[in-house]
Amino acid sequence: MTTPSAADAAAEHRLRVRFGRLHSNVPADGDACAAELAASGRRVVVVSACLLGEPVRWDGAARNHPRATLPLLADPSVELLPLCPELLGGMGCPRPAVHFAHGDGDAPDARVVDTAGRDRTAELRAGAVRADALATLAGASAALLKERSPSCGATAVHGPAGPTAGSGMFAATLRRRGLALATEECAPSAPPVPDDASTRGPHAP
Ligand code: SF4
Repeated sequence: MTTPSAADAAAEHRLRVRFGRLHSNVPADGDACAAELAASGRRVVVVSACLLGEPVRWDGAARNHPRATLPLLADPSVELLPLCPELLGGMGCPRPAVHFAHGDGDAPDARVVDTAGRDRTAELRAGAVRADALATLAGASAALLKERSPSCGATAVHGPAGPTAGSGMFAATLRRRGLALATEECAPSAPPVPDDASTRGPHAP
């Protein structure tokens, strides 16, 4: 008989494989993975991959957030779609941190720069477009996103002077299509589990 810990490990492995396919260098594999989720008949929820423990942040770390993700992981009617729009935009990992120099994800003239002052707007937009395409293929209806990210922030992003109200590129795209957005800071309550901001180490492609 499968023990709960073995079941948990199997579920985590399946999610990691799914993440790998969605971020594959072969876009058709990512498309097929998303389409399989749509065919599952379950509710599909986008989750910022770093919240699930994937070490994809700019510094190569994860931002594991069990309090926000466990209710989704434990719900048999839900399939998770782990996405990192900045990886999908070709920004690599680790990468220089970015912030909005002007506007936010809803502004047509938004401008995103990295810590060296280089314009990264096109990559953020490309990542949002690709991530949204996968979410569309998967039939996702909701998203749990990492607050303050210039890609994933749902109500706040990093601006020129620090955190400020606004939407990230990906979050704004999802909201325009009508998806319900939550963040790790406003997710439904869950059993008290210590959050783990540690990393599993640099992302291995
Ligand atoms: S782009 Fe989104 S998923 Fe990727 S590291 Fe930043 S917050 Fe996490």
